[in-house]
Amino acid sequence: MRRLAKLRDLIRDRREAIVDRVIRETRKSRTDALVSEIIGVLDHLTYLEKFAPRILADRRVHTPLTLMGKKSKVVFEPLGVVLVISPWNYPFYQAIVPITSAFVAGNSVVYKPSEHTPLQGLVEQLLQDAGFRASWVQFVYGAGEIGASLISERPDKVFFTGSTATGRKILAQAAPLLVPVEIELGGKDPMIVFEDANLDRAAAGAAWGALTNTGQSCTSVEVVYVQETVYDRFRELLIGEVKAIRQSTDTGPDVDIGGMTVEFQAEIVRKQVLDAKSLGARIEPAAEESGSLLRPVVVDNLTPTMKLMNEETFGPLIPLVEFRDEQEVIEKANASPYGLSASVWTNDPARADRVARAIVTGNVSINNVMLTEGNPALPFGGIKQSGFGRYKGEFGLYSFSNIKSILVDKNAGKIEANWFPYTAAKYDAFSRLIANLYSRGPLAFIRFALAGMKLESLAKRPRRRAG
Ligand code: NAD
Repeated sequence: MRRLAKLRDLIRDRREAIVDRVIRETRKSRTDALVSEIIGVLDHLTYLEKFAPRILADRRVHTPLTLMGKKSKVVFEPLGVVLVISPWNYPFYQAIVPITSAFVAGNSVVYKPSEHTPLQGLVEQLLQDAGFRASWVQFVYGAGEIGASLISERPDKVFFTGSTATGRKILAQAAPLLVPVEIELGGKDPMIVFEDANLDRAAAGAAWGALTNTGQSCTSVEVVYVQETVYDRFRELLIGEVKAIRQSTDTGPDVDIGGMTVEFQAEIVRKQVLDAKSLGARIEPAAEESGSLLRPVVVDNLTPTMKLMNEETFGPLIPLVEFRDEQEVIEKANASPYGLSASVWTNDPARADRVARAIVTGNVSINNVMLTEGNPALPFGGIKQSGFGRYKGEFGLYSFSNIKSILVDKNAGKIEANWFPYTAAKYDAFSRLIANLYSRGPLAFIRFALAGMKLESLAKRPRRRAG
């Protein structure tokens, strides 16, 4: 914990240098880097310092009456070596958060960042200065083949964050080795806006949720469903928000979004726009590029076969779809093969709760966007093609632990009633115990106690000797 506190202090004090480095490698805006990468990491470290010792402490658990005289507990032990493989979109956050989560649960870590944004040396230096020994967290730089070769070394767990396609490859490689894998993959996150929502706030939220980090977030808003009665008004407001966005690769603080981090991702976005256009979509402001910048656009008049309705975009596109009622929008949202996160916007708390529960996904924000990730106490992860497993928060720490069950029996000198020899008398006593223990009423309890005493006396009998 001392080292985590030191690490937090170092990150707080060196934040400008870290932000500069992150911007250089990702092209994201300065505020995106400061808020998403630095605050997220500091909140996470603060959470670990405060709660991890309690979460990972030995825990006594219930022992049933049938096991009278015994005590049960759960202890949390390290798995061993955890291999963390990360993507390029939040290179600082995606390094520190999984590394420290695995470390605080007692594991050593091998960390492989993305080859596109490796931040080479930066995280190593911070950990070293915070007092981590080099052998506790080892860094390996390189592309996918290096990641694959590290898996073949049979780590005790692989924690992977990245695309669904790579997630599949990693599972296939790890399966015959029986190496456990946790996969945090892509998404096609819906934002659902009901007619009673505050439309100004929802439009601003849609613009931010779809375009922060230039749309390159796993939980970006990838499609906005808007109730038909407010559709035109919302669209107008959203286009206004998008037109007002200041996009630049300048590194100053007066920039909303930067450029795309990698050219291959920009190409995926361009193809989705062209495909939608050729199939009759309406695109506003008119899709255009400015220098190396891909401009954000709102796209509607969509049909289900369009690429942007089926593939993750991971770029500055905001598809808009109209819906009639609650049932229809739930069906539409759940038709997605992904299930990472979602948001629901309405002034009706009961409806918000109903829809949040009905969406098949891992995380839902109500009247906000991408915010579950902002709370380090909430477990994070997806279902369907967005992966499985949870990290962060209490549940997340367990996924880096060997959750060991221990049962202690103080009756060291006795033979158990359910051990050999089996006899008709024991069978009868067990049968009476079952009939009464799982019934109600004082008589049943007395009969259960009598059957238990009978079993006790039978259990005391010395073991039959052969011959
Ligand atoms: P990617 O799958 O291409 O690469 C991710 C990492 O895997 C990189 O470090 C890469 O070198 C490594 N890798 C590639 N092939 C490998 C192999 N065969 N064996 C082992 N390692 C291999 O993903 P990306 O393009 O870096 O990131 C973008 C994707 O990540 C998007 O789909 C995004 O939604 C997803 N993502 C998900 C989350 C989440 O928490 N669910 C967070 C951020 C990004």
